[in-house]
Amino acid sequence: MTKMHVKTGDTVKVIAGKDKGKQGKILRCVPSKERVVVEKVNLVKKAMRPTQANPSGGIATMEAPIAVSNVMLVCPKCNEPSRVSHKREEGHMVRVCKKCGKNID
Ligand SMILES: [Zn+2]
Repeated sequence: MTKMHVKTGDTVKVIAGKDKGKQGKILRCVPSKERVVVEKVNLVKKAMRPTQANPSGGIATMEAPIAVSNVMLVCPKCNEPSRVSHKREEGHMVRVCKKCGKNID
């Protein structure tokens, strides 16, 4: 299993690529490809076929996955993009912000 430093619901900052500097919430993780889908980041336009729910079809905008190495976790405690370390606490792993030293999970 691939270990990723972020998970669904985390706020991350994009540190590389065309959306560099943007910040958003992780909507979905794709650990097998080491990719994440981040709210409002890497938006692509997709042509939609007309369906019953959307009879006219058209163009939809949706988020495409980006490499997890291109994002940095934004610490919910100090609001800074930060590296995280892992430590074992009461039998499970918790993530710790390297900037403020507080537990993230
Ligand atoms: Zn912090």
